[in-house]
Amino acid sequence: MKKAWERVRLSVENLLGAVAAEVVVCTKCSLSRTRSNAVPGAGNPEAKIIFVGEAPGQSEDVKGEPFVGVAGKFLDELLSEIGLSRKNVFITNVVKCRPPRNRPPDPGEIAVCRPYLDRQVEIIKPCFIVTLGNHSTAYVFSKTGLVFGGITQAHGKSHRITLHGMQVIVFPTFHPASALYNPKYKEMLHADFRLLKNEMCKQPLL
Ligand code: URA
Ligand code: SF4
Repeated sequence: MKKAWERVRLSVENLLGAVAAEVVVCTKCSLSRTRSNAVPGAGNPEAKIIFVGEAPGQSEDVKGEPFVGVAGKFLDELLSEIGLSRKNVFITNVVKCRPPRNRPPDPGEIAVCRPYLDRQVEIIKPCFIVTLGNHSTAYVFSKTGLVFGGITQAHGKSHRITLHGMQVIVFPTFHPASALYNPKYKEMLHADFRLLKNEMCKQPLL
């Protein structure tokens, strides 16, 4: 007989697995025709923090896992600097399939794909949602009435919001890929992650 907490964990895993199972066979938008693998997201079902990127790139499309390319290596570095690893966070994207030639996802693709992200957030019930870059920040802000004036203005500031009836702290920062072509963003990402760590320390249950 499983203990109550084990049953809860299994059900969260199953619910997340059900979302992933739908994503990998999804044909709701035309990205399904050009992807090799959809990328539902990965990480700890009991994570207190979800990181949300934009869309899979080439390495992610090959492996079916989020942030496994060069930007992902930098994300790993940022996580480890604040005492986190992929074992205790959940990482996903607003759009689950790679747009051809890594173009930004278009509004139609975001609109049909975002219910998967909504369900993942509802199932995991994180304390923090860290949005990486313009697309994921714009999407989360649009759900809450927060005005989004671009990531340069929004980064590094946390907002206590109600999302799907839950209290969540949203913390926007730059996309880790931006650091690959501009060292300025690299420094700002390091600084934002230090701020994120401070915010996490203020949460007694984390
Ligand atoms: N960039 C993203 O936004 N997501 C990934 O998974 C990889 C690169
Ligand atoms: Fe489905 Fe999203 Fe992939 Fe489009 S991007 S096919 S909506 S999983």
